[in-house]
Amino acid sequence: MEAVDLLVLDDDLDMRTFNAHAAAKAGLSCSLAADFESFKSRYSPSVGLVVLDLVMPDTDGIEVLRYLARLNANTGLIIITASGNSVLRTASELASAQGLRVVGVLAKPFVLNDFVSLLGRTVPNARESTVKANVDLNESELRRGLAAGEMDVYYQPKVSLRNRAFYAVETLVRWIRPGRDDVSPAVFVPFAESCGLIDELTQTVMRQSFAQCAAWNKAGLTVKLSINLSAYSLTELDLTDRIASLVVEHGIDPRQVIIEVTESWVMADLTTAMDILTRLRLKGFGLSLDDYGTGYSTLEQVNRIPFSEIKIDQSFIRSLVADHQAKLIVASTIELARSLDLTVVAEGVETQSVWTLLAEMGCDLAQGYLIAKPMPGPAIAEWSSGWAAAGSDHHRISNPLKN
Ligand code: C2E
Ligand code: CA
Ligand code: CA
Repeated sequence: MEAVDLLVLDDDLDMRTFNAHAAAKAGLSCSLAADFESFKSRYSPSVGLVVLDLVMPDTDGIEVLRYLARLNANTGLIIITASGNSVLRTASELASAQGLRVVGVLAKPFVLNDFVSLLGRTVPNARESTVKANVDLNESELRRGLAAGEMDVYYQPKVSLRNRAFYAVETLVRWIRPGRDDVSPAVFVPFAESCGLIDELTQTVMRQSFAQCAAWNKAGLTVKLSINLSAYSLTELDLTDRIASLVVEHGIDPRQVIIEVTESWVMADLTTAMDILTRLRLKGFGLSLDDYGTGYSTLEQVNRIPFSEIKIDQSFIRSLVADHQAKLIVASTIELARSLDLTVVAEGVETQSVWTLLAEMGCDLAQGYLIAKPMPGPAIAEWSSGWAAAGSDHHRISNPLKN
C-alpha cells in the first residue's frame, strides 16, 4: 500500500479538484475523500498531511478531529473553512487540545499559490514526525492483539442486482481491543504488511471465516465467501497449497471461496501473480479483481489472469448518479466485463438511485451500506431472512432501502 503525502476530505468536488491541482503543483501525491467513510478507508498513519473542510453535510469536521485523536494520529493537519475566522480558530484550538498537530489554517476563499506554498512548507515536516508518531500501533501491540485473539471477522453481503438473491459475503477483519479504541483495517492491515505479520493475520481471518462458512453450510445457508488477500501474502508460492488445505480441513469446496486481490499488486509483478492466481483458479477458487479503476491497467491486460469477477471501485459507484464521467466508465467496464465473461460487482452502493441505475446498466452484484454494513457472523442469518422477506413484499421490492 502506497503512502500518500496528502489526504483531502471535502464534500465539494471543486474543492477536491482544487486540492488535487495544488498537490500536483507542490509535487505531492494525493488521495481524495468526499465523505467521512471514504476518508476513514483511505486514512493510515503513513499519510503525511490531512486537509480537512470543517463544514460538510453529513459529518462535521469536529467528528473527524475526534477520530484522528482517537487513533493518536500525529499526521499534520490543515483546516479549511468558509465559516469565518473565529470558527477556524476555535477548531484549531480544539484540535491542538486533543493532541493533533495543526500545521496550517485557511479561510475560504484563498488562492492556489498560497495553498501550494503552505503544502510545500508543511509536508516534509509532517511526514518526518508521522513515522515516529505511531506509538499506539507498534509491532508488539499488533502481536499481542493477534495472540490474544482480538481479531474478529465481519461479513458484508453481496447480492444480485437482478433478483436480489443473497450471493456471497466479503470477510472484513476487525480489531476489537477491550478497553481501548478499535483500529481500522485500513490502518492495521498495511501495518501488518510492513512488519511481516500479514500472513498470521490472513491465517486468522481464513480460519475464522472458513469455520463460520462451514457452520452456515450446515444450517442450509450456502453463500460464497470472499477473502481479501494481501499482496504480501501472495508472494509465497506455497500459499496456494496452504489455502487449499485449510479449505479441505473445514470441509468447504474451493468453488465456494473467492479470493480478492487488488490491481496495483497484480500488475506490479505479473509473472508471479499469474502463477499463483492461475493455480488457485485451477483448484476451483474464484478470483476477484478488487478496487478496479483505481490503477492503470485495462481490463484487456488484466484478462491475462483468469479472474472470475471484478469489483468496480467505490469512488465510481458513489458518484454514479451525479457524475457523467463515472457513469461512462462504469457502463463501459460492465460491457467489457460481460464480453470477457466476468461477474461484475459494484462496491459502495449506498442509495436506491445508484442501485436502480446499476441494475439498468446490467451490473451483476451489489455490495454496500444500502444492502447491509459489515456485521458479525452470527448476525448474517437474521439479516438474510429479513432481506428475503423484504424482497417478497412488493412495496419493498421497489425500495430495497427499507424503512
Ligand atoms: P476493501 O477490500 O475494498 O473492502 C471494502 C471496504 O469498503 C470495507 O471497509 C467496507 O466496510 C467498506 N464499504 C462497503 N460498502 C460500503 C459503502 O456502501 N459505503 C462506504 N462508505 N464503505 C463501504 P473496511 O472493512 O474498513 O476495510 C478497509 C480495507 O481494509 C479493505 O478494503 C481491505 O483492503 C482491507 N481489509 C479488510 N479486511 C482485510 C483482511 O482480512 N485482509 C486483508 N489483506 N485486507 C483487509
Ligand atoms: Ca475487498
Ligand atoms: Ca474494494
